[in-house]
This record gives sequence, C-alpha cells and structure tokens, in this order.
Amino acid sequence: MNAIYKALIFSPKNEHTLTVLNPGYLVVSKTGLMEYVGKKDPRRKYKGYKFFDYSDRLICPGFVDTHNHLPQYAFAGIGDKDLLPWLENYTFPREKMFAKKEEAQKSAKIFFGDLIKNGTTTTLTYATIHKSATDIAFQAAKKAGLRAVIGKVMMDQNSPAYLTENTRQSLADCQELIEKWHGHGGRLFYALTPRFAITCSFKLMEAVGKMARETGAYIQTHLSENLGEIAFTKKLFPKYRNYTDVYDKAGLLGPKTIMAHCIYLGEAEQKRIKETGTKISHCPTSNRFLSSGIMPFRHYRQTGLCMGLGTDVAGGYSLSMLNEMKEAIENSKLLAVFSKGKMAPPMTLPEAFYLATLGGAKVLSMEKQTGSLEAGKQADFLVIDHRKADPARQKSLYMKPEQILSKLIYRGTAEMIEQVFVGGKKLN
Ligand SMILES: [Zn+2]
Repeated sequence: MNAIYKALIFSPKNEHTLTVLNPGYLVVSKTGLMEYVGKKDPRRKYKGYKFFDYSDRLICPGFVDTHNHLPQYAFAGIGDKDLLPWLENYTFPREKMFAKKEEAQKSAKIFFGDLIKNGTTTTLTYATIHKSATDIAFQAAKKAGLRAVIGKVMMDQNSPAYLTENTRQSLADCQELIEKWHGHGGRLFYALTPRFAITCSFKLMEAVGKMARETGAYIQTHLSENLGEIAFTKKLFPKYRNYTDVYDKAGLLGPKTIMAHCIYLGEAEQKRIKETGTKISHCPTSNRFLSSGIMPFRHYRQTGLCMGLGTDVAGGYSLSMLNEMKEAIENSKLLAVFSKGKMAPPMTLPEAFYLATLGGAKVLSMEKQTGSLEAGKQADFLVIDHRKADPARQKSLYMKPEQILSKLIYRGTAEMIEQVFVGGKKLN
C-alpha cells in the first residue's frame, strides 16, 4: 500500500546527533521503500497515497538486536552464578531440548513474536547445534516477516556429550543451511556460529573462516566476556598471544564477523578488531546480569571500534532494546564514576539510540537498507505512543524532543510500541 505517515519523527543522523522532525512526514511506497522523509507536507506530490495522521505519536526506525539466543529465551531472568556454571546448569540442558521438532517450533514462534512486540525489526540470532531446529527458526523468522541473520551453533569439544558435534558433520550441516537460507528473500541470512573458542577445535574454526570467505555468510561468536572464560581459553590455546589472536589466526576476523561482549580487550586486540573491520555487539544487560563486567564503551568509541547493541537473551533478561539502551547508559555512568573520570564522559541518549538502530545496522552491514529513516531505504519503522511513558500523559510539561527520548529509554515498554513495520509491511 502507498502510504503517508505524519508524526513526531526521530532518526539517527550519526552517532552523536538525532534528527527530529516535529511534525515530519514519511512516505512509503507499496514496494516497501521509503520515498520521502521530511518536514514538508508531501500530500500534493504523492496523490492517491493513504494518509495516516499520528501527530500524537512517535515514529522511529525499528530496532536492531545484534546478539541473542533463541533457545535461551525460556529461562530469561535466571542468572545464577556466572557464565561458565550458568552454561552448564541452564543453557546446555535447555538447548538439548531442541532436538525435538515440536519444542523448536513452539519456541521459535514465541521468540520472533516477542522480538516484534519489542520493536526489533532486525535480529542476529543463535539457534542450537541442531540443523532441523535452525531450519525451523528460519521458517519462523520468514513467517514473522523479520529481517534476520541466524546460525546453527557449532561446538565440537569441551561440551556435554549430548551437544558435542562431529566436526565434519557440523560443517556439512552449515553448508546445507547456507545454500537454503543465505540471502533468502533479501531478508534472511546465515551466520556461521562457532559458540566460542572453548567449545570449538582450531580445525573447526579454520574451516568456518574458509566457508565464510567462500559463501559470503556472516560469522558470529563470543569474545572476552568473562575472566574465567578468558583464563580457560588461554590454557586451551597457549600458542596464541591473546583471545582475539585465536580467532584471528583461524581466519575468523573481518567486516562480516560480529563478536559479542568484548569486555576485556587489550590494546593489541582492539587494534586487530579495528584493522580487520570486525564488529562488536555490546551487551550491557547481560554483562551485568551474569557479573561479567562493564565494557569500556567510551574508550572503544575513541579507538574507532564499530559497535551495536545486543540483548544477549538469556544472558540478558529482556528482549527489549529500550531496556538495552538504558542499561548501556547506566553501565557507562558506573564506569565513568568508578574510573574516577578516566572512562568519561558516559554514553549519551542519542548515542544509545544510534547503537540500537543505525549502529546495529552497520554492525550487520545493512546500513544501506535499514537503521534510519531515509528515502531509498526499506521502511522498517515503529509507531510508538510515547505519552504512555509520561505520568502526565497529554498534559506533560516535558515535551522537548530530548525529554521525550529520555522518557522513552528510561520508561519505555513493549506496550507503547503500537505498530511494527518491516519493508513497509505491518508485522503486528
Ligand atoms: Zn551470547
């Protein structure tokens, strides 16, 4: 449907600046592309387009969640100790259940449905080691209408017997899934997903690097999340200079590789991440929830590392990117205070909003398609009743754009997100 939307419009211009149109107009063609975004009333030019007046609502880009685990959603909110025992006690037994088709189907439907409810229009997602469950996840994402990059988890060592793969079979399964899903409908893509260095042989990781180069698939994994994990990795791979070097020598770094967490990167590691164009998914909720640590956002930003935000459900307890923005700012404030100003200034509201939208799109090399509201891009956007974040509702005294953004990030909930569009099509 050809449509014109009138609303308060927020869109990230760059990492520091938010473009505000009050009111602004968004023109969407029936092919799902944005034709015009601006202040001038376009109704004369775009005759015959259906007009929607959302003057009392906010329209902003759909959110991009650059790290989450579909199977773990069921135990979101249960942190238990820290990363390694949490994996043993909750993650691995839960992921085992995805050998069953019914469980995989039921869980995928709930997961993608809840992502949409939370305003996420693009997601980078881990499935389990099971080829069938990964295939089911793709089917569910397709049905839901999301933009999604999904991967079958790979692990061939240091894992429970029921989740330990044969190296060759693991690679063959991925090859099959890539052929079926990578680039499907222009919305679905494949990510080779070695869980993390501990559970992957060097042989497996090398083959993953090669397969990514041959097929153009993404790579996603975890890096430098937790001190126990880092120490164990060093013990397993003593020949390498540091954790990043293990992945580097296996050929895993590059512009289509997304490393989640990256809390404790040394200077040499940061340099390699930057040189290779490797991306970072910053997961502040999970980093605190599992007592992993606080990523030095400001320092990485000054170094020029490319970052987006990830909920890391269920290391994170919520699929809400509004919550993730809030946690990102609050974590950054804590670090500024406890570093006695060395890690200052803390993350700003526009920076958090950027990371959740255009920054995330850049992490996924999708900035030409999504992440901001601009003519020529796909119409991935949200209609939000931002007044629900305000105790005074319509009579609020605090209606400046920066105040509305602040209330949205600190008090925003899924209930406020009324409509979710991907490629101009309403998903909810
Ligand atoms: Zn994770």
